[in-house]
Parts: sequence; C-alpha cells; structure tokens
Amino acid sequence: MVLFDLDGTVLDTVELIRASHEHALREVLGVTMTDEELMAGIGIPLLEQMEQFSADNADELFHTYRTWNHANTARLIQRYDGMDELILELEREGARLGIVTSKMLDAVDLAWKALPPPIVWDVVITIEDSTRHKPHPEPLQVAMERLGATPAETVYIGDSPFDLQAAHAAGCDAIGVTWGVFDRDALAAESPLEIVDDPAELLRVLTV
Ligand SMILES: [Mg+2]
Repeated sequence: MVLFDLDGTVLDTVELIRASHEHALREVLGVTMTDEELMAGIGIPLLEQMEQFSADNADELFHTYRTWNHANTARLIQRYDGMDELILELEREGARLGIVTSKMLDAVDLAWKALPPPIVWDVVITIEDSTRHKPHPEPLQVAMERLGATPAETVYIGDSPFDLQAAHAAGCDAIGVTWGVFDRDALAAESPLEIVDDPAELLRVLTV
C-alpha cells in the first residue's frame, strides 16, 4: 500500500500555506517572520504550529489563518507536474493508494474542489481520524487498519521530516520528496529508504 502526505507532496500548497501564515502573524501579532521561521512547523497540526508562534494567541492565529487560507485556496493551490500521472500509473498497477494528512477534512475538501484528484483514494485520513498526529504513527496506523495492510507492505511518502518520523515509528518504509517544503538535508537526517526529486523518479523507486 502506498500512502501519501498531501501538502507539499501530492498538491503544491506551499505558497498558499506560507502566505496564510504570513497573513495570520501580521494580522494577529503584527509581526513578520522569515520564510524559514514561517515554514518550520509545517506538517504538524495547524493549532500546534500556532501554539509555537504564540501560546496566548494560538486560537486567534488559527482562525485568522483558516479564514484567509480557505478564501485563497482556489487562487494559490497548484498541481505538481507528473503527480497525477504517477498516481494513475500506480492505480493501473493495482496498488492500494491513500492520503494521510494533518489537515482538517474541510480544508482537504476545499483543495480537491479546486484541483480534483485523478482517482478515488482507497483511504483518506485527516486530523479528525486520530487522536495523535504526525510525527506520531497513529494516523498511519489508522490508515493501515482501515485497509487491513501491514507495516511491512506499506510505504509512506512525504516532504517533511515529520512524515518520515511517523512512517518509521509505524514500522513502514519512508520515502522523502524534495519538491515540497523541506530540503534534502532535512529529509536525509531521518534516513528514509529513498529521497526523490521528481514524480518520475518516485515511480521508478515504487515499481522496482
Ligand atoms: Mg507535507
């Protein structure tokens, strides 16, 4: 079974997320941060990211982020070249395919309304489906449970060190992709099975 992270892995929401953080921090705290500071927590739940920015204002940051993010999703979200083709090819080969994201279901639906996925996923796990979240293995464990898959037959693909940590904690193989938020060094530090630079390379790795 092949499970994918969504943001920065299957869909290019990197600019949408960066700009949403920038907006919320400016509106609520009146501060600007470097892109690196803005993006450091991407991959963990949004509210936790906001608590890291300001424990006192986390709720207001969270709501300000979501309002702006939802209003701008259709404008800023993009596809990654070759990703839909990769997903369709894996489906043709009979792989079971799923999404495991820390996003809330309403935000996932909004993203897919703007850019519909090329297949019907076998499983979709959002933040509502588990009590603990990446880098904890629980979201991946819920996905495997739903499809009756074992860790040994499951690989998780993501652009963040938190994705790779979650995969390893669940006993799955992990593959890092460099087209999202985090660079190769940050991914290499987690010792994934492979690190790939484009969807064509990912397809080769998955079909050996
Ligand atoms: Mg991601």
